[in-house]
Amino acid sequence: MTLFLDVDALSKLVKAQGCETFMGGLLEYMQQDFSRWEEFDKSARTAAHSEVGVIELMPVADQQNYGFKFVNGHPSNPKHGLSTVMAFGALADVATGYPRLLCEMTISTGLRTAVTSVMAAKALTRPDSKVMGLIGCGAQSEFQSIAFHKLLGITELRIFDIDSAAMDKLANHLLAYPELKVVAANSAKECVQGADIVTTVTADKAYATILTPDMVEAGMHINGVGGDCPGKTELHIDVLRAGKIFVEHEPQTRVEGDIQQLPAEHKVNPLWEVIAGKAQGRDSAEQITIFDSVGFALEDLSVLRYTYDLATELNIGEQIEIVPRMANPKDLFGLMMSR
Ligand code: NAD
Repeated sequence: MTLFLDVDALSKLVKAQGCETFMGGLLEYMQQDFSRWEEFDKSARTAAHSEVGVIELMPVADQQNYGFKFVNGHPSNPKHGLSTVMAFGALADVATGYPRLLCEMTISTGLRTAVTSVMAAKALTRPDSKVMGLIGCGAQSEFQSIAFHKLLGITELRIFDIDSAAMDKLANHLLAYPELKVVAANSAKECVQGADIVTTVTADKAYATILTPDMVEAGMHINGVGGDCPGKTELHIDVLRAGKIFVEHEPQTRVEGDIQQLPAEHKVNPLWEVIAGKAQGRDSAEQITIFDSVGFALEDLSVLRYTYDLATELNIGEQIEIVPRMANPKDLFGLMMSR
């Protein structure tokens, strides 16, 4: 039987731990997986584009686990009462192909994207970083804020969105974290001024310039999350030219990341090598570091593995028959007729 976790079950699982404890556990799984990067069978995701959005399939495997995610990106969806990003995924045994877990992955994506951002920031920011500017207060924003506060030690968060209701929603949720000072900014520029870390997590199917060179200061770490599709960027090209850039799976990021604006010969650095202790991250306190996040399948495998282990331990979720098991595996017709 296959363990099935829908939105309700996944929410219960996270709340049973507490959001930050869940993300802390996930960070350990993800750091382990990135440290053994070379063991995975990796590919850039397959994307089906339309004028308004994209649908993507994201597979990855090692010798034990095969994982995939189905995910969309439709920035105009909130106008139609739907999320910009929606997803589900599965974890299967490599030895047999049998699916062990079928899981909602919209919330899981919020969790794993925030944890990936923190994993990169732990490796790249100045260690004394306390202030973050966050541009984009949509579905991902609470996850990013809580992860950076609880797992990285950010104590002041400046927030900005062109939608003031989204800013109010984020600020209200963060009232549960009284040790985090939350300041609503009047502009993107004001939001990032003097910040140690800048997170851009906006959604617009456009070559947007959320961050321009005049907004970037020496020593900043930029966590660019929303530029993740061809023709959908957030960072001005001169911001990219000013920093040391880190990426997940380079062949995918070259097409989808903010670096799609740069020539192919512009050097970028594999994040996994820094996580694995094989390469240096930041070279100096003054250097600008940039994590050009697009979201890679390995992060989804980490969250699927972690979720499966935790749900099994806590006995959360439902067992479903998504594929048949029968006494005679060659008698599929007989099974169908017997039901
Ligand atoms: P969302 O639609 O819920 O929120 C996006 C927010 O950005 C909205 O509140 C919108 O008002 C705001 N915004 C748009 N243009 C802006 C601008 N110029 N200045 C300030 N705010 C602006 O979307 P979401 O689920 O929060 O996702 C945000 C982005 O992150 C999307 O682009 C999505 O594709 C991307 N994403 C990336 C990863 C990754 O792994 N890198 C994972 C998940 C989502």
